[in-house]
Amino acid sequence: MWSLLALVLIAHASGCARGAGFPTVPAAEHYAFVNGRWFDGEGFQPATWYSTEGRLTRKLPSGPIQTVDLAGLYIVPPFGEAHNHNVEGRWNMQAVVQRYLQDGVFYVKNPNDVRDFALQIRQSLNVPTSIDATFAHAGLTGRGGHPVALYEDVLRVGRYEPAVGPLERGWFENRAYVVVETEAEIEAKWPLVMSGRPDFLKVYLVHSEDDGRSAGGRPGHHRQGLHPALVPGIVARAHAAGLRVTAHVETAADFRQAVRAGVDELAHVPGWLIQGVDDAERARLTEDDARFAAERKVRVVTTSVAGSAMPSIGGHHPHGQHEGPASEPSDHHQPAPAESEGQVLKDNLRLLHRAGAAVVIGSDHADTSLAEVLHLRTFHLFDNLTLLKMWCEATPAAIFPERKIGRFAEGYEASFLALAGNPIEDFTQVQAIRRRFKQGVPLDHFVGPDAASLGTGQSSH
Ligand SMILES: [Zn+2]
Repeated sequence: MWSLLALVLIAHASGCARGAGFPTVPAAEHYAFVNGRWFDGEGFQPATWYSTEGRLTRKLPSGPIQTVDLAGLYIVPPFGEAHNHNVEGRWNMQAVVQRYLQDGVFYVKNPNDVRDFALQIRQSLNVPTSIDATFAHAGLTGRGGHPVALYEDVLRVGRYEPAVGPLERGWFENRAYVVVETEAEIEAKWPLVMSGRPDFLKVYLVHSEDDGRSAGGRPGHHRQGLHPALVPGIVARAHAAGLRVTAHVETAADFRQAVRAGVDELAHVPGWLIQGVDDAERARLTEDDARFAAERKVRVVTTSVAGSAMPSIGGHHPHGQHEGPASEPSDHHQPAPAESEGQVLKDNLRLLHRAGAAVVIGSDHADTSLAEVLHLRTFHLFDNLTLLKMWCEATPAAIFPERKIGRFAEGYEASFLALAGNPIEDFTQVQAIRRRFKQGVPLDHFVGPDAASLGTGQSSH
């Protein structure tokens, strides 16, 4: 017991010393996890696992071992959030990490961030006592495309200046977005893109069906992203550099362009943002589209709460910053009936899932992906087991494809959540988290006061 206490004291002391609050904990000791029921991809089986060097093993490690009594709890891999922008800077770092750990979401993917701010928080991430996050930094878009106005006009004053002080208009170029209009520009700006050492690359396709039309002809509906013809070259360049590519998409045409260009992931499912009757039609996928994505092994991120977090709507939608005010107003669009908005998204998700495309959980807007998964439940498209597997298996694997996470097997990371009840029978049990371990380190001390106390193996339910 003294060693556990020491671990906690070391953790707290170094946390204070560094000011960031998320210290690197020394290599975890050995644990024996007994009396848990472990998720095996289909159900829960009793098992004893050991943790050594932060990894799971069936073999009894040598040396002193702490026994953790999991007391019949249901053990699942930690959850993922495949699309959110809230892990973004020093000013809210601790609160954001706290919320994710609280909800059992250990893996977060940020598909567009302000590079300078993200680089400042990297040392507080990807350690056992914090969340693990990946960053795309500045996404690639066309001139005047999304998210240029969002950063320069909306978030600059509404979000970032209050946090870091005055910023000139234009400051975000090459920090939060990179404008490319030609192959030559891609070539010229590529070293800049790579210099931030992004974990993956983000490209923007917005109403690519309107490419070539004049902005005046269809106000508010002209293309506001990359020239689609540039995307295959960008993807090839990224893949050659070892980076996967995530595409922002809004319409079915964007979806097709992105899949054809060879991207690895779509940050949204068309239908997530419907601003009028036209949009609903343009967002509808066909069975062929869904099969095409499945064949190409392109993942889709659900973001079902993203559109509803931006009500009123007009003009273009911020890609995920619900704290910011609505973007530019517009009265060009007649609102679509509420039921048809959700319907296209639901139909598309159903098609994609049936075709065998990987569907992963990401909210874009919410505090964590818990809100997204609970919203998806209301669609009645996926049973509890399917939803659980998306959240604790497919989503973490999508964020960190090279890591041994998302299941319990020899040599996999010793990270798990212990739930009070069986989430396959009662999905709300995903919110009844009694214990958290990450990479062999107990996290109960780093989350809220209602978390179980260390070493007892249970708490009042
Ligand atoms: Zn987004």
